[in-house]
Amino acid sequence: MLSFEDARKIILESVQPVGIERVHLLEATGSVLAEDLAAPWDMPLWDNSAMDGYAVRWQDCTNIPCTLRVTGFLPAGSKADGIMVGAGCAVRIMTGAPIPDGCDAVVPVEETDNGQQEVTLNESVKKGQHIRLRAEDVAAGVIFARKGTRIRPPEVNMLAGFGMALVPVYRRPVVAILSTGDELVELGCTPGSGEIINSNTLSLAAAVQEVGCIPRIIGIASDNRESHLEKLSEGLKADVLVTSAGVSAGDCDLVRDILDELGAKQIFWKVAIKPGGPTAFAMHGLTPVFSLPGNPVSTMITFEEFVRPALLRLQGHQKVLKPFFKAVLRDPLNKKPGKMQIVRLRLEKKQGQWYATSAGNQQTSILKTMVDAEAIALLPAESTSFAVGDEVDVHFFGNHIELELP
Ligand code: AMP
Ligand code: MG
Repeated sequence: MLSFEDARKIILESVQPVGIERVHLLEATGSVLAEDLAAPWDMPLWDNSAMDGYAVRWQDCTNIPCTLRVTGFLPAGSKADGIMVGAGCAVRIMTGAPIPDGCDAVVPVEETDNGQQEVTLNESVKKGQHIRLRAEDVAAGVIFARKGTRIRPPEVNMLAGFGMALVPVYRRPVVAILSTGDELVELGCTPGSGEIINSNTLSLAAAVQEVGCIPRIIGIASDNRESHLEKLSEGLKADVLVTSAGVSAGDCDLVRDILDELGAKQIFWKVAIKPGGPTAFAMHGLTPVFSLPGNPVSTMITFEEFVRPALLRLQGHQKVLKPFFKAVLRDPLNKKPGKMQIVRLRLEKKQGQWYATSAGNQQTSILKTMVDAEAIALLPAESTSFAVGDEVDVHFFGNHIELELP
């Protein structure tokens, strides 16, 4: 049977970004830059003062203390054009204001007597001090952000500083979500005997949103060919289709057959993992189709391990896998050999060391253990038992990152 590693490799090799769009800076936050960006002009655009103080000619200030005549005032936002500072003179200047011609140093107000008509300097002056030079941050033409960069507030700041309101980013994919099964009723209905609420659709939509994509809820396909044909066709119009349930070997499991009928090419079915074994992956043209098992725990875990990295790749991210770190077990874990076991854990950090306890009953049917889990461990297929004190590789679940108490 296909290994977990091979399944994920196949998926990540099959998907690519869905296109580029130009969006406003604020909508771009979290997206990935789709082009290299070059500075349209020097930053800063002109030499300017790094301090509130006096712009001076360095050669006038070699004998300290010295007194200079104050001939002007340059607050931030004023123009230095036409202001010429002659010998023995200084201009009062505020942080960010342009350096007037003739000056080559700024003396902070704290190092003077703060005079208005005349100013006395009390400390030695170095040529060029407290001047931010034109282009010292980024020179015109220099690439200041590379394709593949995730846009964060610092990138927004620099883009805005260069007057770039629209940013070329990889488009956020629309992800169709379809649940299947005659037992399902929608949220808002009271489930009768034999019925359950279609909770997977909501959970998948939440996970799709969390990873930065746009969910499109298709609804429920009933366990018959016509309904599957209609709903799967609808779902295939999106950039990605994710289905839940109807993908095992049961009499009513129609998803793979109908996808085949609709022209999707199955890439794999069944992976050597538990939970999540019946997962199928297909491509319909350029549209990836993930058919996840219906058990809510299996649906969420296979989304986390297979769909999430693929959705990041589709948005142009290069780094799409969660980092693993070591945790020391406080509970023993046992498994059968042959399949990778995905276990749900709680974590605690003590003196720089992570410790993991089981989040609860690990049966696939127990949803509460998923609710209680902060992290996941992938126990290798060939392994069978882990004792208290053994180290396992874990990663956080979902977008969870561990913050510290204040
Ligand atoms: P199936 O893959 O169709 O055999 O479904 C496996 C299990 O998951 C069954 O117990 C289903 O009732 C349950 N299930 C299927 N779809 C959903 C859903 N959309 N929301 C919650 N549970 C589901
Ligand atoms: Mg079913």
